[in-house]
Amino acid sequence: MDKLIQDWDGEYVVCRFDHETKTMMFIAIHSTALGVGTGGTRLKTYSHPREALRDAMRLAEGMTYKFALIDVPRGGGKAVLSVPDGFDPARRERLMLRFGRWLADLNGLFETGPDLGTSSADMALIARHYSGVFGLPADAGGAGSPGPETALGVFCGIQASCEHHFGTPDLDGRRVLVQGAGSVGESLIHRLLEAGCDVKFSDTDPERVEEIRQKLDLPFVEPEAVYSEACDVFSPCATGGILNAETIPQLACPIVAGAANNQLDRLEHGEALHKRGILYAPDYVINAGGAIFLPAVEGSGWSVDKARERIRGIGDTLREIFSRSKQMGISPARAAEQLAKEKVGARRNDVN
Ligand code: NAD
Repeated sequence: MDKLIQDWDGEYVVCRFDHETKTMMFIAIHSTALGVGTGGTRLKTYSHPREALRDAMRLAEGMTYKFALIDVPRGGGKAVLSVPDGFDPARRERLMLRFGRWLADLNGLFETGPDLGTSSADMALIARHYSGVFGLPADAGGAGSPGPETALGVFCGIQASCEHHFGTPDLDGRRVLVQGAGSVGESLIHRLLEAGCDVKFSDTDPERVEEIRQKLDLPFVEPEAVYSEACDVFSPCATGGILNAETIPQLACPIVAGAANNQLDRLEHGEALHKRGILYAPDYVINAGGAIFLPAVEGSGWSVDKARERIRGIGDTLREIFSRSKQMGISPARAAEQLAKEKVGARRNDVN
């Protein structure tokens, strides 16, 4: 793991082993140039602690760029709770409480919210010991799940992507394939249907598939068939790493624009998409709705309307990235990274 840390350009890695639940807890803070390290807490089983740390570092870096590009004065961080295989759900409450106590001991180094594997209910447990928590349940004074707000940003990002590619943001009649009909995906599907899109969906959870079919009567695409399914917009809203050497050659769409974090298996896959003429909306930009909403409404006392107006601005940020990509002849993934690094770098220079 030393090499992983040595090769990283982040600021802090903090680690603690929870003996009772055999959970390795990592916090990675990539940059505090723009503000306090902030990001979700992910709970997952990994094959090795190294993989958990790698995930925390990569996701923390994404948070730095996300906050920089949406002009939210926060730094990039991420926590990963690497639970053992077969983790006993009965131990969850104790784990969250001890994680909260640890965060309090770290004196505000990191502020957090829900992520993959954690929920608003977990945040309420963490908040018993630590106040730097977002995404609390509504009955605990919080804004609840950020999924629908993230979906609003993705929807505006799809409009901006269509405008860039087709010359109009009008989505009426566009064929959109949503991979993953969870908290973000389902909310996005509703918005797309309202806008007149021809929507198909995919999910690996049979119960979820049945629920969506019953509620919305939408065409379903088998999970292994999504990449080669012809559509105007492919919207990944499930897991990361799905844009890779195996899937990119199969894609039968001109646009990839969805909520999932770390969609590119590696940064060079952004170049591979660009070479294939597929417009990619960088994930940490298009999925920033929740990251805008929770700190603004819960932390800074913004009204819901003001926060949503800001989320709609994700479309403009993407327009700027696409136009930079076109002008400089580089991929949107590269253009987004450059722009974010300029913003963080400028602030670092201010501070020094
Ligand atoms: P979720 O767990 O509510 O939903 C994910 C859905 O994807 C589930 O229904 C699951 O069954 C399905 N799924 C998993 N693997 C799949 C696969 N291979 N093919 C098809 N379906 C699959 O999660 P969510 O909160 O909707 O988040 C979705 C993605 O967006 C995640 O990558 C998350 O990190 C990212 N994201 C979420 C938010 C948010 O506000 N919730 C914010 C930013 C980014």
